[in-house]
Amino acid sequence: MDNVKYLLPETDIPTAWYNIAADVPPAPAVLHPGTMKPIGPADLAPLFPMAVIEQEVSTDRWIPIPEEVRDIYRQWRPTPLYRARRLEQFLGTPAHIYYKNEGVSPAGSHKPNTAIAQAYYNKREGVKRIITETGAGQWGSSLSFAGALFGLEILVYMVKVSYGQKPYRRGLMETWGGRVISSPSDTTACGRAILARDPNCSGSLGIAISEAVEVAAQDPDAKYALGSVLNHVMLHQTVIGQEALKQLELANDYPDIVIGCSGGGSNFAGIAFPFLGKKLRGERDVRIIAVEPASCPSLTKGKYAYDFGDTAHLTPLVKMHTLGSTFVPEGIHAGGLRYHGMAPLVSHVTNLGHVEPRAYHQNPCFEAGVTFARTEGILPAPESTHAIRAAIDEALRCKREGRAQTILFNLSGHGHFDVPAYQDYRAGKLIDHEYSHEEVAMALSGLPSVS
Ligand SMILES: *Cc1c(COP(=O)(O)O)cnc(C)c1O
Repeated sequence: MDNVKYLLPETDIPTAWYNIAADVPPAPAVLHPGTMKPIGPADLAPLFPMAVIEQEVSTDRWIPIPEEVRDIYRQWRPTPLYRARRLEQFLGTPAHIYYKNEGVSPAGSHKPNTAIAQAYYNKREGVKRIITETGAGQWGSSLSFAGALFGLEILVYMVKVSYGQKPYRRGLMETWGGRVISSPSDTTACGRAILARDPNCSGSLGIAISEAVEVAAQDPDAKYALGSVLNHVMLHQTVIGQEALKQLELANDYPDIVIGCSGGGSNFAGIAFPFLGKKLRGERDVRIIAVEPASCPSLTKGKYAYDFGDTAHLTPLVKMHTLGSTFVPEGIHAGGLRYHGMAPLVSHVTNLGHVEPRAYHQNPCFEAGVTFARTEGILPAPESTHAIRAAIDEALRCKREGRAQTILFNLSGHGHFDVPAYQDYRAGKLIDHEYSHEEVAMALSGLPSVS
C-alpha cells in the first residue's frame, strides 16, 4: 500500500496568503450602520489595526506572510495531508479520499492560522489587549494561545450556554492567560439591556460580538478581533489550500471535489479558495461543496442581503447569506457552525455560482464522525463531521456510478473536548431540528432596509 501521509518540509509553508478578491468581480460595499454609506478605513480604525484593515479591502492577489508569523506557523505547519485508505476500503469506493488535518495545531483547529496573524499585527501597532467573543471556545482558545506568545491581554466574551457546557475550553483559555466572561454580562450596556429584558438569556454569538465590540471601541489600548467571516480571516486561512495543492502534487493527484464545513466560512475558504482561484483563472476545473447544519442554514435557506454581524447592531452592514441578526439557532453540538450569517466573500462566490451549498442534520454527521474515528483513528470536531458526511456521500455516489473521482476535504479540528457530544449521540439524545421556511421568513422580516 502506498504511503498514506503526505508531509512537506517547513520551507514549504506558504510565503504569501492568497486573496480571491483579485480573481472575482468586486463584492458589494460594506456600509456604515448609521449613514448606510460605504465605510472607509477610518471607520474601522477603532476596532482593528491598520495592517488588518488594509488586508480587509485589498485586491492584491498575493499578500506576503510576515516571517514572524511563519516562524510560529512552523510549530505545527505544514499540517499533514492524508489519503483516507481505510475509510475508502470501509466504504468500498473507487474514489480517492484525502483530508488535510488542521486539528494538529496547539488549539486543535485551523483558527490559530488567523489568531497568530491578527495578534502579530496588533502587537506591532502597540495594542495592549484584544477583546473578542467565542461560541464553543475554539476561537477564544486560539486567540488566548496567540496572546500568550505575543504578550497581549485577551478578554473573551463566551456565549453563556457554552460557558456552562464547555468548562474544559474555558480552562484552556485561562491556562493560556485569557480572561473569560459569560455573555450576556453586566459589564456592557448592551449586555445589561439584554439581561433586563431576559435575565435567563442563554446568549448567542451575535450578542457576544456586540459586547466585545462595545468594550473594544471604548478602550484606546484595545482592539477587537473576529475569528471568521471577515475578508482578512478568509485570507489568513488560505495556507491550508496552498499546502494541500503541493501535497496533492506529491500524491500525483488533483481533486475533482473540494469540501469544507462552513460556519462563518473561514476553514472552508481556507481549503477551497486556492483551488477555486485556479478554476477562476482557467487553469483547472473543480467542484466546491460548502456544508452547513440544517438547523443553521444560512447558505441553503438564508437570503443574500445586507445585514448586521451582531445582535445590538454595532457592526457595519455587510452583504451576505443571512438568517437575520436576531436569529438564535438550536443548541446543536457543532457550536462553531451556529452563526446567523456567512462570510461576505463565501457568499459572493456562492452567489456567482462557484459553490454548491449543502445542509445536513447532526445525527448523520455524528454517524460519519464515528465511521471516520473507527477507520482513520482521529476523533473529529462536531463541525468537521459535516465535511466528512459530504465526503462519504460523494464517495458512495462514486461507488454507485463506478467512477474513481478524487475528493479532498478539510478536517478543521479534533473533537477531544467534544466527547460528551459523542456520548449524547450514542445515547440517541440528539435531535434533528429542521429550520422551517416559516421560521426563516420570520427571522428575515427584521432585515435592515438598504436601498
Ligand atoms: C470555528 C470552527 C469551525 C467553523 O468556523 P469557520 O469559520 O466556518 O471555519 C469549524 N470547525 C472547527 C473545528 C472550528 O473550531
